[in-house]
Amino acid sequence: MKQHADSWLIRNASAILTGLRGAPARHAGPDIRISHGRIAALGALQPLPGERVLDATDCVVYPGWVNTHHHLFQSLLKGIPAGIDQSLGAWLGAVPYRYRSLFDEHSFRLATRIGLVELARSGCSTVADHHYLYLPGMAFDSAQILFEEAERLGLRFVLCRGGATQVRQAEGTASAGPETLDQYLSDVDRLVRTYHDPAADAWRRVVMAPTSPPYSMPPEHLRETARAARRLGIRLHSHLSETVEYQNEVQRRHNLSPVAFCAEHEWLGADVWFAHLVKLSHEEIQLLGATGTGVAHCPQSNGRLGSGIADIVAMEAAGMPISIGVDGAASNEACDMISETHAAWLMQRAKAGERALPAYAGGQQEGGAHVACVEDVVRWGTAGGAQVLGLDALGTLEVGKAADLALYRLDQPCYFGLHDVGIAPVVGGGRPTLRALLVGGRLSVENDAIPGLDLAELGSQAREAVVRLQRAVGVRA
Ligand code: ZN
Repeated sequence: MKQHADSWLIRNASAILTGLRGAPARHAGPDIRISHGRIAALGALQPLPGERVLDATDCVVYPGWVNTHHHLFQSLLKGIPAGIDQSLGAWLGAVPYRYRSLFDEHSFRLATRIGLVELARSGCSTVADHHYLYLPGMAFDSAQILFEEAERLGLRFVLCRGGATQVRQAEGTASAGPETLDQYLSDVDRLVRTYHDPAADAWRRVVMAPTSPPYSMPPEHLRETARAARRLGIRLHSHLSETVEYQNEVQRRHNLSPVAFCAEHEWLGADVWFAHLVKLSHEEIQLLGATGTGVAHCPQSNGRLGSGIADIVAMEAAGMPISIGVDGAASNEACDMISETHAAWLMQRAKAGERALPAYAGGQQEGGAHVACVEDVVRWGTAGGAQVLGLDALGTLEVGKAADLALYRLDQPCYFGLHDVGIAPVVGGGRPTLRALLVGGRLSVENDAIPGLDLAELGSQAREAVVRLQRAVGVRA
């Protein structure tokens, strides 16, 4: 009997988290049938003739993670000493803006590959990259490289086409000059025609994503990008309110809050999601919630840059779709979805606990452990990600959904002794061994290895590239 490439029976999982809310967040399984790249059944199942069997004994199954904010080119810019202890503004000048013009086709492809490999090995099946490394006259087509590298690894890829039509102060002299609005919009148009698939289970999407609303464009350009995106039927994404500097800047220039500024320029709605949103007033959260605007929560980068902790729990209560992104590796040396969701789980609880007061001062709670459970974090990182990207066939383990699944093996000492193995990948704090990552029913990772990838060789190429970058900026002879 011929075996179908995308048809599997996953057998005997120890636990299944579905990405759904409430009681359906767990499924007893223990088996999952995948047929033609879709989930066909969950339950106690017997193999069908010709079906391939994937043994999930002592494994936990999650939906493939959906990472909604990244800058893959930064994967060669980790831990740069000049930026390691800087907050956002100084860090931008010392790291991404200082180094971005030094990338050539080889180093850009290498950085992209490193970032995607790291994500795939954490069980991530869909990656949205906010790519803003566009300089006039660049000698290579970075969009093509990004889509090619994602396809090689069998991952779904969303290109958020960054860029700017004015220079930000932090860029200093490192910028070779911004694009014109016409150049920017016509390239987005080209990318949509070349790559964008509107299907609910698309492998390739394009998003309109000027790098940062208050800084990257004059306000009238911003409004034009929103209108152009809606004409093209694509989504809108950007950074917002990562630090108080956003509040200072928009207040000074426009006498508005950053969210009110976005509202004025048609940049809110269910087709918009913002990275960070660390610094928001109650009114801003209500406005974001009322418009269905989403967030890419990046707790590790926000922690690393000392920006703060976004109030994700309040945002969800206000009606916002919540997703999780790793942000670029230049401000997050652990750019994988397990580290990121582990941090999200801890930091939302810590944030709630920070508000606890003694009873004599009016307090009513001892701490904040009740605000976010592992199932919430899994839902944010899977179903929530699919929602903000508009990839409605992804993100949950349900019959009819795309077969994007991560199977984690519980063979590390940090999992020994756990009473509830379903929470292991998020609570463990280290990278679990991946039994398999399936994307659309196809194997991207098997037994912790990516077929055809020489990890040692990738590491060696990365070390050489770091030396070349260090020489280019004069920190190494
Ligand atoms: Zn970012």
